Amino acid sequence: MNLNYLALAVPLFVSLMVIEFFVAKKRGKRYFNFTNSVTNINVGIAERLLDTLITGLFFFVYDYLQRHFGIFSIQPSVVLWVALFICTDFTWYWYHRLAHEINIFWAAHVVHHQSEDFNYTVSARITVFQAIIRTGFWAILPIIGFPAEMITSVLLVHGLYPFFIHTRLIGKLGILEYILVTPSHHRVHHASNPHYLDKNYGDVLIIWDKLFGTFAKEEEEVVYGLTKPLKTQSFLWQHFHFLLEIYYAAKKEKGFRNKMRVIFGRPDDIDPDLRDKLERKFYIRNNEKPADRELNRYVVWQVVFSLVILFLFILFEHHLSWQFQVLATLFILLTLVNCGAILEQRGWIFYLEYARAVIALLAALLLNPSLTIITLALLAIGLSLYYFNRLENRYLGIVYK
Ligand SMILES: [Zn+2]
Ligand SMILES: [Zn+2]
Repeated sequence: MNLNYLALAVPLFVSLMVIEFFVAKKRGKRYFNFTNSVTNINVGIAERLLDTLITGLFFFVYDYLQRHFGIFSIQPSVVLWVALFICTDFTWYWYHRLAHEINIFWAAHVVHHQSEDFNYTVSARITVFQAIIRTGFWAILPIIGFPAEMITSVLLVHGLYPFFIHTRLIGKLGILEYILVTPSHHRVHHASNPHYLDKNYGDVLIIWDKLFGTFAKEEEEVVYGLTKPLKTQSFLWQHFHFLLEIYYAAKKEKGFRNKMRVIFGRPDDIDPDLRDKLERKFYIRNNEKPADRELNRYVVWQVVFSLVILFLFILFEHHLSWQFQVLATLFILLTLVNCGAILEQRGWIFYLEYARAVIALLAALLLNPSLTIITLALLAIGLSLYYFNRLENRYLGIVYK
């Protein structure tokens, strides 16, 4: 059976997050906030899911570029593996730096910086848009002439490393601080202290920051998150708020050139009050009423369930029809949007729950399109539509009391 064993990364990383949580707790440190951790993991689930769907496309792009535009014809050797690793890390530095300096790239990267905690769950807080932009930068590697197989192998190692630098449990690492990006360096990168802003962009090697003047040592206590924190659990707002800010800022400008100046300008130049205005316009506000224990537990089960589906989805990737993959993706995405909405105790979650149930029925039909399942599905949909209002009230009564 052709299984994708990369799926094992899901239980492995989740276990490390759990271990980190208990070690921090034992040391009496409050490094984990419930809602922050849930949203971090949820953002990561969406990214892994969508990334699984398009990874093949990335390989195809690298392969096509190398065959048609490769300057050199590179054959794997120890020296060239090392050269590729250094080129990859160098490209990452510039991708990451520009992701902080150019609005349209920051719109994707900002999501990684929204967490006001700093622990392993933050490493999961990456979006698929970021993966797409990064692939654009890494397109330079096949153009140099590195084969797609070499690139994807190096990217795998390069992609695993950052997980380990998102922690507050590890202090400074002696001599390694001079060569590698360490947890201490990356804590500075996630800081909103003015002195630490736009520093330490490196992924594996810290030398690029030292070379290009963006290095800062961890000295004062770090305050994590954005300079203007995002006070909402809305999954969609977290993903798209800055894109909308760019859109409305560009719309206000006259002339093509000025609009482009907004899109490719610096994030600091976007009026910070614009977000407040948009949050009012789109009814984005955090529910002040904190979710109770039971509600939190309900959300935790949704996250665990999504992680299990994600694991199976990656593991059996080569055996699932594209229709089933689309349905599973839709199901999980709705679950993730729902989790944020439940934490904010929104009333419209029932519609998403209903949509999820319909998707689950369609998936069952896809797996077993027998007359019995079709009859049962039609009956379930008919009855639920007939009793829709009663079901909605009952559901909201159970979830929100
Ligand atoms: Zn960053
Ligand atoms: Zn990070």
